[in-house]
Amino acid sequence: MADQNRKHENLIIVGGGPGGLSASIYAARNGVNPLVLNGPEPGGQISTTSELENYPGFPEPIGGFELTQKMTQQAENFGVRLEYESAEKIAIVDNKFIVKTEINEYEAETLIIASGAEPKTLGLPREDHLRGNGVSYCATCDAAFFKNKKVAVVGGGDTALWEATFLAKFAAQVYIIHRRGKFRGAKILSDRVKAKENIEIIWDTEVKELMGEDKLSGLKIFNNKNNTVSKLAVDGFFVAIGHQPRTSFLPAEIELDSYGYLVADKHQHTNIPGIFAAGDVQDPDYRQVVIAAGSGAKAAIEASEYLEKNSPTFAAQTVINKAEAAQQTENFSTEQEPALSFNLKLD
Ligand SMILES: Cc1cc2nc3c(=O)[nH]c(=O)nc-3n(C[C@H](O)[C@H](O)[C@H](O)COP(=O)(O)OP(=O)(O)OC[C@H]3O[C@@H](n4cnc5c(N)ncnc54)[C@H](O)[C@@H]3O)c2cc1C
Repeated sequence: MADQNRKHENLIIVGGGPGGLSASIYAARNGVNPLVLNGPEPGGQISTTSELENYPGFPEPIGGFELTQKMTQQAENFGVRLEYESAEKIAIVDNKFIVKTEINEYEAETLIIASGAEPKTLGLPREDHLRGNGVSYCATCDAAFFKNKKVAVVGGGDTALWEATFLAKFAAQVYIIHRRGKFRGAKILSDRVKAKENIEIIWDTEVKELMGEDKLSGLKIFNNKNNTVSKLAVDGFFVAIGHQPRTSFLPAEIELDSYGYLVADKHQHTNIPGIFAAGDVQDPDYRQVVIAAGSGAKAAIEASEYLEKNSPTFAAQTVINKAEAAQQTENFSTEQEPALSFNLKLD
């Protein structure tokens, strides 16, 4: 695309999950007028989660979709623009960032990368073929398909424990298959799993084969303590072994850690001046909504300062939210009646 067709932006936020949306609210209130690229999963991972009970401000559990809708609405109230596009490639040219999507090419003064993470696969033969035909990576999305059936979850961290507990509400029997003899996940989650009558834990065991031609019928499992192979008949198999940060579109110059997570300092700066990072894509440790939102806020404050210092063309806009705009319209119509307006001012 020719340079003159590139759309110029002060700040592009790559990702429309809690990290990106929180960043957009802070940036908009700083007068930066950010553009959010929503990518393949608008609202982020949490939009497919049935309930959250650990996000402050909601004493009753709130649905994940409802929470992201509220965040999106809050961003839009401050004039944030959200585009349903994905960053396919980012290049650094003369200290500016060229972001190529499926349909547009943008030139941005600064970027916040909040592209999150996606579930890891086991890499078993036919795993991809059976995806959607018994193999799943999201209990919240697919649990209802396994009402009164037998399912297995593989993994030993928070995700696996959470998914197993959720599945136990639907399935007749849930097996958790873990290759070690102890869970890595939070104690509260592991206590919940152990208390469920329809969850059985299969320790020291690895999944070796997926059975069934076009539809999953069971698993071949290997006990690594006594070296025995056995069959486990299940209708559903949920892979919950962690996530892969989404970074494939980033420039080669940007620093990633050995697991592929973006490296950011405590002010959310990456090694490239002008590129900031927020949320799960830079968080191998916590991966929680409240933390993603917090890091998004920090990234936006830093990006705003960067623009003030480094971009000669940047001028912060006057910020007005939806409620103030409505109030101004009301005042404007009141000003058509000078006597009333005068009286109100005297009051
Ligand atoms: C089943 C499940 C249950 C969970 N339960 C909880 C819970 O109870 N409490 C809690 O705090 N956390 C929970 N989490 C974790 C929580 O969802 C994440 O920590 C949080 O969503 C991270 O936010 P994020 O914005 O960093 O990334 P994400 O939510 O992953 O969002 C990433 C965004 O980036 C976009 N994107 C990706 N690639 C591109 C691209 N190339 N171009 C443009 N956009 C792109 C995606 O479309 C998406 O909008 C749960 C997660 C799962 C999977």
